[in-house]
Amino acid sequence: MPSMIINGALCDAASGKTLDVVSPVDAQVFTTIPRGDRVDVDVAVQAARHALDGAWQKVTALERGRLLMKLSQSILDHFDELVELEARDTGKPLVTAENDIRVMARYFEFYAGGADKVHGQIIPYLNDYTVQVLREPLGVTAHIIPWNYPAQMFGRSVAPALAMGNACVVKPAEDACLSVLRVAAMAQDIGFPPGVLNVVTGLGEEAGAALAAHPDINFVTFTGSNEVGILVQQAAARHAVKCVLELGGKSAHIVFDDVNMQLAIPAVIKSILQNTGQTCTAGSRLLVQRGVYDRFMQELTAAFSQTRAGSPSANPDCGPLINASQFARVNRYLDLGRQEGLQVLAEGSIDSDVPEGGYYVRPTLFGARSHDSVLLQEEIFGPVLVAVPFDTEADAVRLANDTRYGLLGAIWTENGGVQQRVAKGIKCGQVFINGFGAGGGVELPFGGMKGSGHGREKGFVAMEEMSTTKTVVHFHGQMQ
Ligand code: NAD
Repeated sequence: MPSMIINGALCDAASGKTLDVVSPVDAQVFTTIPRGDRVDVDVAVQAARHALDGAWQKVTALERGRLLMKLSQSILDHFDELVELEARDTGKPLVTAENDIRVMARYFEFYAGGADKVHGQIIPYLNDYTVQVLREPLGVTAHIIPWNYPAQMFGRSVAPALAMGNACVVKPAEDACLSVLRVAAMAQDIGFPPGVLNVVTGLGEEAGAALAAHPDINFVTFTGSNEVGILVQQAAARHAVKCVLELGGKSAHIVFDDVNMQLAIPAVIKSILQNTGQTCTAGSRLLVQRGVYDRFMQELTAAFSQTRAGSPSANPDCGPLINASQFARVNRYLDLGRQEGLQVLAEGSIDSDVPEGGYYVRPTLFGARSHDSVLLQEEIFGPVLVAVPFDTEADAVRLANDTRYGLLGAIWTENGGVQQRVAKGIKCGQVFINGFGAGGGVELPFGGMKGSGHGREKGFVAMEEMSTTKTVVHFHGQMQ
């Protein structure tokens, strides 16, 4: 059975309880994980605090960077094992799992290089004063991460925190956490001091809630659903703890009449089918200008009908959904779309040899007449794309913003003026022009506006989020 990692040691939950891990491929239990709770969280937070006040603060920024680089290399050295584990745990096609493990290694590499490159400042002030602004770790940082990209989310969340000298307590998702446990165990082997990186597995409402509410954490970064994100922020606020929220999305493609269809069509399909649509940045709304609508939809429909869901090893466009409740949720939206009168424009297939019981759905493309469909408003988190026509540039911006979310958007046009105006007009954290989701984009600041959350991860900005400043004012004049 995979173990938690607390204070440098592999361990079970103090209660001895476990949770079954079910494979999305065939709905069979294939292992168990410890069901950590408040008690384990408390021990992990104490271990992190102890490390922070002891061994970890003696490690220089250069050495922290070297440890992160070693971890990155160790991930690559165990590449095949981690890919297999990730695909098994999440049902991802092997190519997606391969990408995820590469991106996780890249996070540790990127922040390894950054560890000793975040400098303080000297600020000109009054005569006879020298003012330094030092950058310091926040302290014990809590990381609550989801099941859709466990490996990537772990790297994204933990690497900048460690680079800045924090000590981390991670609560991965109960549905998929095996790669996280494996990599955290490797970190112990390559020399991170005990307590610097702890992982407590368990249920969200037990271990997750206890971590967010713990009085001795100094920061929490949460990636997951809006409902839980708000609970986490409320819990953190009770102790005035800083919180970053990376929540859901309902990202729009905005396709103008002069679109380059060869570029756009494969990107539109990939953006909704990648990870079986279980991606916060999924391009789940397709706004198409009326002049090109019929032509664009005809080509898209032909290509979309060729897509398939299947087992990870068959490298399909989609794997299974993660679990039974996601399966029920996506099917509910598929039924609702039909009840609402949306037109089914295309459906992909499910491979005939998928194991019985797995959570497979057919990729589905709907056409809507107006933007008020529930399927255009709510995050489905499945391989379901809804297209709707628009007339003018102003309409496009209005519709793109007609959502509670604001994570990402894509603009498809060759017209530079339209590109710039629309990019400025849409309210979201990342905008792509003639492209979508740059393969991980570890270097690029990322995060939401509106209901998609606040705070930024990735890039150098994450190191600023996960550290704080101390202003030291030194008077060196002489008293008159
Ligand atoms: P979730 O909110 O159910 O779970 C996320 C994490 O929170 C899990 O580790 C879970 O155990 C924990 N949790 C659950 N209840 C908790 C509680 N009461 N207190 C503390 N922690 C608790 O989300 P999910 O179903 O795992 O993930 C899907 C959601 O995540 C989608 O909405 C998706 O858009 C979002 N997401 C966002 C990003 C981003 O970067 N913006 C990335 C990936 C996923």
